[in-house]
Amino acid sequence: MWEKIFGHETNKIFLGNMLQGERKTPSLLFYGPDGIGKKKLALEFARSFLCLDDPTDDYCQCRSCRAFNGKSHPDFIYVEGQGARHDILIEQIKDVEKKAVYAPVLSPYKVCLIDGADRMRVEAANSLLKLLEEPPTYWLFILIASEISQILPTIRSRLMAIRFEPLHREEAARVMNQQNIPQGDTLARLSDGSPGKALHLAKTEALMWRERALFVMEGIADPYLMACLARLEWLGDMDVDRTQTFLEMLLLILRDAMMIKEGSGLLLYNEDERERIASIFASTTLPALKKALLETERFYLGLNKGVNTRMILEALFLEIHTFLKE
Ligand SMILES: [Zn+2]
Repeated sequence: MWEKIFGHETNKIFLGNMLQGERKTPSLLFYGPDGIGKKKLALEFARSFLCLDDPTDDYCQCRSCRAFNGKSHPDFIYVEGQGARHDILIEQIKDVEKKAVYAPVLSPYKVCLIDGADRMRVEAANSLLKLLEEPPTYWLFILIASEISQILPTIRSRLMAIRFEPLHREEAARVMNQQNIPQGDTLARLSDGSPGKALHLAKTEALMWRERALFVMEGIADPYLMACLARLEWLGDMDVDRTQTFLEMLLLILRDAMMIKEGSGLLLYNEDERERIASIFASTTLPALKKALLETERFYLGLNKGVNTRMILEALFLEIHTFLKE
């Protein structure tokens, strides 16, 4: 069952048990890091829950499953954040409330999936709380969130929380290979077991930016650093998104360099570049690396539209250059 979704075996068993016998409709909360398959499993579970034939069959062709796969199921309600900030607005919850007066049409149940429940405006959350306090009969609510701390405790107390862990590296790599993403193993490692994040890294050419970050670090101790930087053409046509990817890669490199210094036996994000990173920072002290990491983080968080990214990056490189000399 739900073979298309990798990992999360314990959660699958738990959810599978809910499909046995007479179905109860508790309100559920799926939480855990972004991009690891919470929504995929929620959708498959919703399809199974509404199914009229064999909910354990991934390829069931009953009327309900066909309607669900065709994105036209009358008893499935999907709510997701709107606008640039992906907030869930009160109007959206009011819409759900209106639908609550109608009985299911095709299935014996209705499923309401609220994606990004941690991005709910307060008024929306209070409105939803009323619904959860007295859920309409036959309604199953599934809320999805990456930050459980952002869910009002009153709402949280109404939900059965199901925690999702990042995938094991091998599982994440399998997802990447299934989608024919080159260097899937490396991307899976860089994304900490989040296939969604790994796909994003592939799309933003993260490995190219990682190579550039390594290249700059290789020359960071050069006394003529500014002259070296002036020769880097790509520095001139960075935008905020590229700079963000670049800095993310630089942060992982610096973090790995610290792990190597500490002699930690843990696997690095950039395990494939372990020796190169060790050699770049061979004569750097741990406190200097830590300073460089914190400073890079500060620049990363301070990025916003309209900044001159070349100037920002050059300023950062100069600071790292100074720290590493200490
Ligand atoms: Zn079915």
